[in-house]
Amino acid sequence: MMAQYLEIKAQHPDCLLFYRMGDFYELFFEDAAKAAQALDIALTKRGKHDGEDIPMCGVPVHASDAYLSRLIRKGFRVAVCEQVEDPAEAKRRGAKSVVQRAVVRIVTPGTLTEDNLLDARTNNYLAALADAQGELAIAWVDVSTGALWVAPVAGTSLAAELARLDPAELLLPERLFQDADLMQAIADWKPVLVPLPGARFESTSGRRRLEALFRVASLDAFGSFSRSEGAAAGALVDYVELTQKGRLPRLSPPRRAAPGHSLEIDAATRRNLELSRTLTGEREGSLLGVIDRTVSGAGARLLAERLAAPLRDVALIEARLDAVQFFLADERLRQELRHRLQRVADLARALARLTVGRGGPRDLAALRDGLAQASEIRQLLAAPRLAPMPLEIARSDRDLGDHTALVDTLTRALGDELPMLARDGGFIRPGYRSELDELRGLRDESRRLIANLQSRYAAETGIASLKIRHNNVLGYFIEVTQTHAEKLIGLAGFIHRQTMANAARFATTELGELESRLASAAEKALSLELEMFETLTGEVRGRAEDIAQAADALARLDVASALAELAAERLYARPSVDASRRFRVKGGRHPVVEAALTHAGAGAFVANDCDLAPERRLWLLTGPNMAGKSTFLRQNALIAILAQMGSYVPAAAAEIGLVDRLFSRVGAADDLARGRSTFMVEMVETAAILNQATESSLVILDEIGRGTATFDGLSIAWATVEHLHEINRCRALFATHYHELTALAAKLAGISLQTMRVKEWQDDVIFLHEVAPGAADRSYGIHVAKLAGLPDSVVARAGEVLALLEEGEDASTLARLADDLPLFQAMRPSAKPSPSGTDPLDQALSALNPDELTPKEALEALYRLKGLTKR
Ligand code: ATP
Repeated sequence: MMAQYLEIKAQHPDCLLFYRMGDFYELFFEDAAKAAQALDIALTKRGKHDGEDIPMCGVPVHASDAYLSRLIRKGFRVAVCEQVEDPAEAKRRGAKSVVQRAVVRIVTPGTLTEDNLLDARTNNYLAALADAQGELAIAWVDVSTGALWVAPVAGTSLAAELARLDPAELLLPERLFQDADLMQAIADWKPVLVPLPGARFESTSGRRRLEALFRVASLDAFGSFSRSEGAAAGALVDYVELTQKGRLPRLSPPRRAAPGHSLEIDAATRRNLELSRTLTGEREGSLLGVIDRTVSGAGARLLAERLAAPLRDVALIEARLDAVQFFLADERLRQELRHRLQRVADLARALARLTVGRGGPRDLAALRDGLAQASEIRQLLAAPRLAPMPLEIARSDRDLGDHTALVDTLTRALGDELPMLARDGGFIRPGYRSELDELRGLRDESRRLIANLQSRYAAETGIASLKIRHNNVLGYFIEVTQTHAEKLIGLAGFIHRQTMANAARFATTELGELESRLASAAEKALSLELEMFETLTGEVRGRAEDIAQAADALARLDVASALAELAAERLYARPSVDASRRFRVKGGRHPVVEAALTHAGAGAFVANDCDLAPERRLWLLTGPNMAGKSTFLRQNALIAILAQMGSYVPAAAAEIGLVDRLFSRVGAADDLARGRSTFMVEMVETAAILNQATESSLVILDEIGRGTATFDGLSIAWATVEHLHEINRCRALFATHYHELTALAAKLAGISLQTMRVKEWQDDVIFLHEVAPGAADRSYGIHVAKLAGLPDSVVARAGEVLALLEEGEDASTLARLADDLPLFQAMRPSAKPSPSGTDPLDQALSALNPDELTPKEALEALYRLKGLTKR
């Protein structure tokens, strides 16, 4: 057995080998040590190899999915090795022969199909990168749904493209590991890289593989693919086949994403704007988490996909918006549709499992129910008042198709209670196939006869406690307590089989015959059921394309109605999108901050306008800390993204000229893993913007040059604004605390000065969160420091230093400061008297005890306080 193990293991050196032994998957040697640690299970030993103990651990087969999922999440790949013949067969070859085993599947993060290994609301992509003739291409597939894509990709866009896809595995020809630039671009993806020999990326054989798979004479049937695209897609399909050991799930013909199809958002911007995940990695609190009102897994995946890749084509965006408007206008239709969609199971994933040979009766039921709902939805859409429908909806309606025959077959064939696995049997409805009913009758009859036998034997022997039992070793047997054993041993027909501590077990010929009748009927029934399962699966496979199309259509309807629901609930407006350079938002809001404020009951979000017309395309936004600058910058970026993904936007009105690339430089953290300090990260991101932003881009810059000396920072910020204005000529929002920059407005025509309004009141600052033309003269940083709880002494001293600095920033001022180093005096009372001592308002407030007031007194107190504020 060890020889067999070692031979199989040698073929899968990069995987943990799950070696099937009875009801367990066992792991040996190093695999065992790694798995025991990763799964926190006991490491034992079994036998010896070269004189050493063999470390071993194991997981029960029935619970293996949970263990697999943990291993995959920790980055392992697992080769599942099964017994591929009946142990009885092996015995026939000789007492010492080993049961034949083979790896039936390699489980890798990018090739999962099981619901419990996957997140229902997220796509799980396997991607491959290939180059040919100096061109790079990327192909990606979600094996669990069959969607397959290819696209050419420029070296400069590669990181952005990968950030969009977030692949679980990325296949790469070994040769490209030598390419330092490329490796730098994909550094974030190192943990998921899978190196493969160059031969697997050979473009001609890649093409042939695809042509054979999709049964077309030439791949050109699906569009014109470059050599690198053919190579990437070919390698991808090859890898799926390899890991599934020759069984391919249904894959859609490759769709080609044309270059420039989507609004490009680089990895840093995506992360900073918290599009689909927050900075801490959660979905909740991200833009996606806030806008997602979909009711099905497939809908949620499509929404995430659209948010990750907003469009750059006005007609396509308008078509999506028309669909949202259609459902927004008809609340009743929307609710009915959402109610039905809620009951649709994950058709695409059920279909993928059935086609790769890993499906079960419940997957068939999922198709039965989902397709039945699809037909109800078609009826819903057929209401005459809805005509004419927008193109998008009409297309979805058509794609839902007609599956009556299949639904009918499945409804008649499948029973009410369905097992997980076909081999557990009992899923075909009684009455569907008479032959099966007969076999089941025979099996049940034998069971009944066995039960009858028990009462007969009990009566005949006079042993009331006599039982007929069953176990896997003996099969059926008669069991009596030891006290009665003697009685049976003498009795004709009773054959003694086993003596236990306080029981004895017997057999009879009659029982044996009944048992074998039962076993043979049960076995025949099961094999007939399995055969029928295959037939039903075959029917599904025959209609796979239509079913996949219906699943897509359901997802599209879910997304359109969910975005309509969002728009209705949060009062979003339909944006107007065109190919101009406009960017005019009236009453814009930050979707996530607004939702958080509403949730916390913390008052209303203050809406703000933004107009980046060519003559004021670069807004220089100054204002105090905490005034809402970052919020404003981000909300405009998010509005552009939402508009281009085909969603309504959180604003009273919005006119967006298509944005080709979105850049942001907001906040920064060290990237120590890549050897970059905070300031270095900031500069790398700024460099990317200045080198790449075009006239159609939108740039938001939240502070430049903060992490260095004041003058260095100011100079860099100054030069950056000039470059953005003169060279990039893009639309931009630039928030800064360098008030000196406002002088640029006099020189550069496209700059508009804007500020966050605040109100000073009794030594306090009130943030109004309103954007208004003009420039701020102060940052109120010290005020925010006080709010944050800096010691009073530090706040007071900072105030003094600031006052001195504001007098004049020459060497003598600084010298005076150093002379007057009064840190030890810092505990002296602050210059201003404490408000609570003298302020009548404060005194009146502290005199109040709300719990003791009657409503009338409370009202009077309120008037009194109000009177005090008017002084
Ligand atoms: P800093 O200069 O310190 O980075 P900032 O000016 O960028 O500050 P933000 O981080 O945008 O300030 O906003 C601070 C807080 O103010 C937000 O967390 C939010 O709770 C609130 N806020 C911002 N904008 C608004 C708004 N328009 N309406 C209501 N509350 C807002």
